[in-house]
Amino acid sequence: MAIRPILELPNPVLRQRAKKIRRIDSQLMRLAYDMVDTMQHANGVGLAANQVGELKRLIVIQLADEEEVRIYFNPEIVKREGEREVEEGCLSIPGYKAMINRSVWVRFRAMDHSEKVIKFKAEDILSQALEHEVDHLNGILYIDHMEEHQELIPVDKSEEDEESASNDSDADQSDTAGSSVLWTPDDDPRETPASLKIK
Ligand SMILES: [Zn+2]
Repeated sequence: MAIRPILELPNPVLRQRAKKIRRIDSQLMRLAYDMVDTMQHANGVGLAANQVGELKRLIVIQLADEEEVRIYFNPEIVKREGEREVEEGCLSIPGYKAMINRSVWVRFRAMDHSEKVIKFKAEDILSQALEHEVDHLNGILYIDHMEEHQELIPVDKSEEDEESASNDSDADQSDTAGSSVLWTPDDDPRETPASLKIK
């Protein structure tokens, strides 16, 4: 397993449609585990294969409060319902976040590593993550969902950079209840509200 470089905007691979997976073999599983490593190393909640330069319909997700790593092949949003405003960012668009609209819940279908079809209904952060990652496979980025009144918000470098996070971001923030503190990566990531950490 290995950490792979994450492609960033405006890399054209991020705008391409990933191809359906026909067979899950050891090479594909290696890619999946590399993506898990890469996602965890970057402190992200999810990663799509496009983001590591592979046009395959494969996503990985690990919610902040779950130990389980989710690996989905040929994932599909079968149905979506409702609308809610959420905060979102992306490892391929570093340094920014934005408020965008996502569904209240989705019905999801995918294949697991044994090529078994799995289906479930998801809401909250899982729904948001599934929509974000399946979008990636279709060349869509969260900024495409921004409406005119929704602007990109720069993320303070000290809050984003894992190495420097312990230096000053806490010192600046006497009140640790401030929402910006939720972005401080030296907090236990499992305690960070996942809605703020979608990658
Ligand atoms: Zn992303």
